Amino acid sequence: MRDDENLTTERPTFVTHLECAYTGERVKADTLQNLSAAGKPLLVKYDLDGVKNALSKEALARRPADLWRYRELLPVRKVADIVSLGEVMTPLIRLPRLSKSLGSGEIIVKDEGRLPTGSFKARGLVMAVSMGKALGVKHMAMPTNGNAGAALAAYATRAGIKTTIFCPEDTPEVNVSEIELQGATVYRVNGLIDDCGKIVGEGKAKVGWFDVSTLKEPYRIEGKKTMGLELAEQLGWDVPDVIFYPTGGGTGLIGMWKAFAELEAIGFMGKKRPRMVAVQAEGCAPMVRAYEAGEEHAPRFENAHTIASGIRVPQAIGDFLILRAVRESKGFAIAVSDEAITAALDEVARGEGLLLCPEGAATYAAYKKSLAEGRVSKSDRVVLYNCASGLKYPLPPVTRTLDRHKPIDYSKF
Ligand SMILES: *Cc1c(COP(=O)(O)O)cnc(C)c1O
Repeated sequence: MRDDENLTTERPTFVTHLECAYTGERVKADTLQNLSAAGKPLLVKYDLDGVKNALSKEALARRPADLWRYRELLPVRKVADIVSLGEVMTPLIRLPRLSKSLGSGEIIVKDEGRLPTGSFKARGLVMAVSMGKALGVKHMAMPTNGNAGAALAAYATRAGIKTTIFCPEDTPEVNVSEIELQGATVYRVNGLIDDCGKIVGEGKAKVGWFDVSTLKEPYRIEGKKTMGLELAEQLGWDVPDVIFYPTGGGTGLIGMWKAFAELEAIGFMGKKRPRMVAVQAEGCAPMVRAYEAGEEHAPRFENAHTIASGIRVPQAIGDFLILRAVRESKGFAIAVSDEAITAALDEVARGEGLLLCPEGAATYAAYKKSLAEGRVSKSDRVVLYNCASGLKYPLPPVTRTLDRHKPIDYSKF
């Protein structure tokens, strides 16, 4: 049992309704929903004055260090519906040596690889599955580049919900295996994530499964939002100057932007916002193209390819929300090459002993590039999101051996 509450109690919750992020159309809360009538994402709305009266920073500080501490700003109404695997607060890890060698300000990595299933997809999927459980969902389906599928499989299995998952055929081996091992049925598809998404969409009517694709249901983003709540709390209810976020479907970036607005509305922080930087790979940079072209939407990026599989998303349903947050925050979108990603991963691992995932390494590469181009200043305090454990990805082989039967030259060590 959680130490601050009884599992059978209902708690005051503050969700008022769902709202189309494009048209503002209102939809009743606590109903099963995918996209709005306009085919756009639905966002959860709260009675923020009610939250303001109910929650103090002091009360929050006494709660367990997991994402459920923010329950007044989350959609799950009953504690009994929470499907938890231990969603710990993730640490902020400074990179003092690298910032010294760059002559720059504080570089902080928010290390999301500590979460269940080794990626921040756990934040979103724990929320979607808990709400699915509350609303009686029996079967969920999803397209994935790997980490989302693993998180869905784990939580859905815990909730007793059947899961069918489709991933591109070159999805990292460990992801495909962990998905299947955690109780889902996974198919490798000869296409990209949006091709997999079409299969999930078409199966809705034919199979009756619930589509849990990024931003095609309203709750994953509420879970991802806790990255922003947590960061602000960890920084003493402050925000950094710049956030570098590896952007695929963009849930995390949009979610954090929503989190900061909600924190201001409940009086926990002021008007200060970080500049939000959407980081993509040169081989798959639809947001960077649209940002540079001044467009509101981002067309599909053809022939998408990058080693950072988590951000290989050629087209995103939340494109306008990503671009809006980037522009409103006076941030920007930037692409880095796979070579720069590999070099960044190497530099942080060897220089600071911190193994990033390729998507996380992309944010460090983007930070260095932005610094060199003068898009961020040397005095800026920056936060880089490392969204998964580096151990989930293929690592470079080591061929060095030692023959213990031959004389050992100890002078070489
Ligand atoms: C999903 C994922 C991303 C992208 O996250 P979004 O919020 O969907 O843009 C980045 N990195 C990793 C490792 C991921 O699994």
